[in-house]
Amino acid sequence: MPLKIYNTLTREKETFSPIVPGHVGMYVCGPTVYSDVHLGNCRTFISFDIIYRYLKYLGYKVRYVRNITDAGHLEGDRDEGDDKFSKIARLQQLEPMEIVQKYTLGFRHVMQLFNNLPPSIEPTATGHIAEQIEMTRQIIANGYAYEVDGTVYFDVEKYSKEQPYGILTNRKLEDLLEGTRELGGQDEKRGRLDFALWIKAKPEHLMQWPSPWGMGFPGWHIECSAMSGKYLGQKFDIHGGGMDLAATHHTNEIAQSQACYHTSPANYWMHTNMLTVNGTRMSKSLGNGFLPEELFTGNHKLLDKAYSPMTVRFFMLQTHYRSTLDFSNEALQASEKGLKRLWDAYEVLKKLIPAGKQAATDAELDSKVNKLVNEFDEFMNDDFNTAKVLGSMFELVPVINSIKDGLVKADALSAETLALLQQKFKAYLEDIFGLKNTNTDSGKLNEVMDLLIDIRKEAKAKKDFATSDKIRNQLAAVGINLKDEKGGEMSWGLE
Ligand code: AMP
Ligand code: ZN
Repeated sequence: MPLKIYNTLTREKETFSPIVPGHVGMYVCGPTVYSDVHLGNCRTFISFDIIYRYLKYLGYKVRYVRNITDAGHLEGDRDEGDDKFSKIARLQQLEPMEIVQKYTLGFRHVMQLFNNLPPSIEPTATGHIAEQIEMTRQIIANGYAYEVDGTVYFDVEKYSKEQPYGILTNRKLEDLLEGTRELGGQDEKRGRLDFALWIKAKPEHLMQWPSPWGMGFPGWHIECSAMSGKYLGQKFDIHGGGMDLAATHHTNEIAQSQACYHTSPANYWMHTNMLTVNGTRMSKSLGNGFLPEELFTGNHKLLDKAYSPMTVRFFMLQTHYRSTLDFSNEALQASEKGLKRLWDAYEVLKKLIPAGKQAATDAELDSKVNKLVNEFDEFMNDDFNTAKVLGSMFELVPVINSIKDGLVKADALSAETLALLQQKFKAYLEDIFGLKNTNTDSGKLNEVMDLLIDIRKEAKAKKDFATSDKIRNQLAAVGINLKDEKGGEMSWGLE
């Protein structure tokens, strides 16, 4: 079965067909770095990491772009108020870019702990002001935006006469209008649904740039249109993000691209469902978010104990990305046990040696194993159904354990089947699901070394060479060689 992807735009599972054969361009809306990411945000990024890894496993050359939103998020949802970066910078008496740096590093660190691969390009909104201005200028020139006193608005009414504005979430303009308030006398906008592409800055505003419309800063939606266009072209394959982004942010991205380039930006729109706590969406504004660190230390009133990053990753994989996932201690504890069971079986499997051209002595078992193994790709091809793949893997665990316990002879399976089983377990657990073993001593050593390397990198960045040298020297004393590599990376080995 070829890869099928559920497309939010058409509300159907469609056979994936990239624009350029063998290549995939994928854009995912990244974090807004004025605060720490919570576990809900992580769910979305872990889901897309699995999708990225699976596309690579299928042999595609993937350019994965995930932005960092470091400008342009306003407090209000009506293009009013200060932007959140400026507000927090003022409160903490820091430069806005110090806030951006702090939370960008924190975000990358959390992504690394979850073993997410870095995207191919990680562009920032502040690094692409010129592109956002240019796109805004082009949208005005095409007649779909207007300027009022230094602020530029997208003209939704005009646009919707030619294109279905609510197409992504299948909503009519009348329904969308119903959800917005009437414009008052002080409003500059012409239409209730109009949104800002560029916003005039007050003199005291901390982050502002010159533009053809005076000093200002970009609206939020234009950033993703400008950066996806720059790195993936006017039309690319996959655009993703959390489901909460579809109705406004992605709807506006489609309108901007249509108004600027006369094309919808992406062929496939993918949206991950929300992580909930007691049925309520985890969100920064509701204050019901766990920080990953709280989870790893168990330091939160709703947590019974600490959970490792791999337990949390596994917990997420056990639910399909388009279903809601409710946080619970019981579910996480079940995941912890499940992951251990699976990994223990994998450790056994790795040690089995397929003998020559051995034929199966138990044809029935051999064909059952083949069927289950072949299901891995089938389920992933069915809109990345990680939950079902894990179901098949768990059915294979008793087979592997019976071989270990001598209840079934290893030659019950043909050498070919055994080799396939080993190869697919490795590909799925390690390469596609991105899991790492933390149960064995060597797994634990890897985790501890990752932690020490992180601390040493932080120490070096702060020019705290005493700490950085201490870590290297003390490790050398116990027979672990830490080596500085190019680009600030570090590797290690046992003497
Ligand atoms: P933000 O930093 O708020 O812009 O969010 C970053 C990403 O996390 C976006 O793709 C959101 O859609 C996603 N997101 C936010 N809350 C949740 C949640 N509770 N569950 C899953 N994804 C979420
Ligand atoms: Zn975006």
